[in-house]
Amino acid sequence: MKFDVKNIREDFPILKKQINGKQLIYFDNAATSQTPTCVINSISDYYNNYNSNIHRGVHSLSEEATEAYEKARGKIQIHFNAKHKEEIIFTSGTTHSINIVSNGFLNLIGEGDEIIVSGLEHHSNIVPWQMMCKKTNSKLKVIPLDKNGELDLKEFKNLVSKKTKLVFLNHVSNALGIINPIEEIIQISHSYNALVLIDGAQSAAHFKIDLQKLNVDFFTASAHKLCGPTGVGFLYGKKELLEKIEPFMGGGEMISDVTFEKTTYAEIPHKFEAGTPNISGVIAFGVALDYMNSLGFENIRQYEDKLLKYATEKLKEIDGLIIYGDVKNKTSVISFNISGTHSYDIGSILDKYGVAVRTGQHCAQPIMDHFDIPGTVRVSLSFINTFEEIDILQEAIIKAKSMLS
Ligand code: PMP
Repeated sequence: MKFDVKNIREDFPILKKQINGKQLIYFDNAATSQTPTCVINSISDYYNNYNSNIHRGVHSLSEEATEAYEKARGKIQIHFNAKHKEEIIFTSGTTHSINIVSNGFLNLIGEGDEIIVSGLEHHSNIVPWQMMCKKTNSKLKVIPLDKNGELDLKEFKNLVSKKTKLVFLNHVSNALGIINPIEEIIQISHSYNALVLIDGAQSAAHFKIDLQKLNVDFFTASAHKLCGPTGVGFLYGKKELLEKIEPFMGGGEMISDVTFEKTTYAEIPHKFEAGTPNISGVIAFGVALDYMNSLGFENIRQYEDKLLKYATEKLKEIDGLIIYGDVKNKTSVISFNISGTHSYDIGSILDKYGVAVRTGQHCAQPIMDHFDIPGTVRVSLSFINTFEEIDILQEAIIKAKSMLS
């Protein structure tokens, strides 16, 4: 299929929306991606035609819903190349997935153990580990950043040791767009028998990920950053690890046998899927992945790389504009400030021109502290954006700057 952005944009009804009398220009794709009609239709199709609880009923509707839900699990397995279907656990998103792992290790980590987190993380990949360290008396160590915002690999090699049990980092930073050298970090961590969790919330939408090739122990992503609905995502874990860790949520669906004396858990993946899940959301997640695959991840990547290059050049033309994390190995995000202005003020003025960007800390306060700034303006690109939109962005920033100075 030809990668034609004009046609692709027709799949996204929201792009016709006017904001403050101007055509919407959506540059907040890293916070949540927009939703194509096929995904929206799949949700209404579920409620119109086969809304029913799964895994429980013998009636036809329940069987139809269960089949569609499990089919979506198979789609995720195939897309991310997991070895076993049951290694895919449906969750409410990346945050939920990370909390499953951090709680799952409570009984397996103790005093004297160390865990390592990167300095480039979203709060979702910091706070659960701090909570875990507090409960287990284990120690949290942080991979520092260099002056450009990249992870200091030399320092990582100094930090990792036989005491290291777990290593956590994102594949791509949501605040800066930097791509982390996860292959190398996984390999080094494994040489010390440490397990690795990769937060793929920002990478899964931009390139195809092969979990078996990466040989990562845990991986997670959220559907709403991949053209899917909010409130759904998945946790991947190697089968033997998922079998080993305890679930932290108890309830229906996750049990095998319950008496008042004792409960035995269901097999994976159900052990981690307590309660009624987001059934329509899971099914729509599968449809979203089908949609993105029909465009082709390689096409998406190539197009987005061109957009990023163009946008970076255009923004650098603006006097006083400072880009953070302006490194070679990055994707789809430009985080910047304009000297003498506050990111919030720039973002508010851009909104008057119909341009949606994110401002502030981006749930990554330690990164802002590293650069000694309160926040940035973040432009996050996707394949639905055009070069013309970037021209309008540049003009709008120049106008905002002159209004504020
Ligand atoms: N990690 C990263 C890198 C993210 O960008 C986000 C979302 N901004 C999250 C974790 C949390 O994802 P969710 O809100 O879908 O749980």
